[in-house]
Amino acid sequence: MQRERVADDIYIFTSERYAQVTAAAVITNEGAILIDTLLYPDETRQIKQFVENRLGCPVRYVVNTHYHADHTYGTCLFPNATVIAHQRCAELLEQRGRASLAQAQAALPELSEVRLVIPTLLIKDTTFSLTLGNKTILMWHTPGHSPDSITCLAREDRVLFAADTVMALPYFVDGDYNELLSALERLQHNNFENIVQGHGEVILRGEIEEKLRSDITYLRALRKHVEIALSKADPHAYLRNVDIEQCGKSRVLLNGTVQQLHRDNLLALFERIRQASQPVETK
Ligand SMILES: [Zn+2]
Repeated sequence: MQRERVADDIYIFTSERYAQVTAAAVITNEGAILIDTLLYPDETRQIKQFVENRLGCPVRYVVNTHYHADHTYGTCLFPNATVIAHQRCAELLEQRGRASLAQAQAALPELSEVRLVIPTLLIKDTTFSLTLGNKTILMWHTPGHSPDSITCLAREDRVLFAADTVMALPYFVDGDYNELLSALERLQHNNFENIVQGHGEVILRGEIEEKLRSDITYLRALRKHVEIALSKADPHAYLRNVDIEQCGKSRVLLNGTVQQLHRDNLLALFERIRQASQPVETK
């Protein structure tokens, strides 16, 4: 796990074991707020050691930015913290999280200590504000990557924890293309100091607008190629040849795993647009 400091009291932890997934700690004079945890207990335990033992700051809140395992499995290591998430996250953890945890544990014995934690402090549709000591975190619903995704802002430091709304490659297979596009558009021109992505490196002030523009360009290019594919006799043959560079992104991001994300995106968008454009059956 790698640790870096992006502001006086804000630390970012990046997994070296799973897809460069990130978690963050906001340190206040009344305790710490964790924004996400990491997939493997040994990495989350290193965060706990650092924040609680080295900095001497007990974790009071854990925010789950969405229900996906790589962001939530470490929550159970903080039994005394209040867990915050969007209400859809609590529902999805109940509906899908239990079964997928059982499956993951069968495949990976080191996850055997993981327990599903259902968030209890739930965000509805308005902006939610959490003040602890000298820090305020604003949170709001940004579905798109997943139905329950939220985005968090450390108000005093203007550090945005975008979770998987901003990652090395926009990914909406479990969410909604249009919602992700509009979430990214709404993040533009906000004068953030940093954006902490859900996966990948922290984006610095001078890189933010270019990164958001490039993500939006990528999503629009996907749609253009899907529409061309729909006009072809063999749309899948066309889609197979739409490589990631044609949509303005590099295949080396996230150690190359973006190639698969790109293929999944293309197929998911193709299926959704194809189904939506099919004539409604009449009897
Ligand atoms: Zn995710």
